[in-house]
Amino acid sequence: MEEDYPRNLLEFEGRFATDAACREYLARRRWPEGFVCPRCGGRQGWPTQRGLVVCGACQYQASVTAGTIFQDTRQPLTLWFRAMWWVTTQKNGASALGLQRELGLKTYWTAWTWLHKLRRAMVRPGRDRLSGRVELDETYVGGNEEGVIGRLTHDKALVLVAAQEDGPRIGRIRLQRVTELSKARLRDFLAGAVEPGSVLRTDGLNVYQGRAGYEHEPVVVKRQAADAATLLPRVHRVASLLKRWLLGTHQGAVRPEHLDYYLDEFTFRFNRRRSASRGKLFYRLVQQAVQVGPVPYEVLNKHISPGPQQTH
Ligand SMILES: [Zn+2]
Repeated sequence: MEEDYPRNLLEFEGRFATDAACREYLARRRWPEGFVCPRCGGRQGWPTQRGLVVCGACQYQASVTAGTIFQDTRQPLTLWFRAMWWVTTQKNGASALGLQRELGLKTYWTAWTWLHKLRRAMVRPGRDRLSGRVELDETYVGGNEEGVIGRLTHDKALVLVAAQEDGPRIGRIRLQRVTELSKARLRDFLAGAVEPGSVLRTDGLNVYQGRAGYEHEPVVVKRQAADAATLLPRVHRVASLLKRWLLGTHQGAVRPEHLDYYLDEFTFRFNRRRSASRGKLFYRLVQQAVQVGPVPYEVLNKHISPGPQQTH
């Protein structure tokens, strides 16, 4: 199917000026082969005045936003679309404060929850795993990084990094925070991130040895960090870009319990960094936003943090 997205801000504004236009765009992303009734699977539906679709077979009134991250939102879809456009056109990532200012949202909290909902949509359900030759290593994020001024007071988080080789370049990546570097955690990560049969390139650390289902190509790392960077250059490059991004865009103000979301956003941007069009990123985000379920309030609430204060 041809990918249908606005090429620039002017096209975006012309196209998504009304909730009806946004709703129709969502419907096309949600039901790319045409309407499917969520209750009976019927394939015929008619739009109603209230923005619902009535199933021709069972009369069920389906909402295009039900069961997506937009479920129960009280804000107009036009505002959500602006948020998605803004998020995908920020080259270096989006902060809640930036989103609040851009959309004129009344509270920082709203901007924060929206960003977290959108970040959830950045992980494509059933997305492809890495394959071929894959570099694998761990890195520590946060804590008292050298030369860091400011808010980094929490403990370091341990993050597994996998980077697919693309000739001399870095292909797609996957990141995951883990509580410990153990064989069990590594197995879980690999199961979700790397196709069985792939060739894993790791350092000589014991935990990386003998991963069932994968070929293994250990590289011997000498003591100097410079050697690690030479022998596993892709994961090291990704780790340093990640740290720079967390410090730059978020001033290091990422709490460990929120790190997963930031890792997802970083991965989303990184894996599409060569995308010629920002509009295409927007398209992907919308597409994925109607494929992931809503974020229950309690889940966000569990992670509530006041976040950075609005004083700067
Ligand atoms: Zn039906």
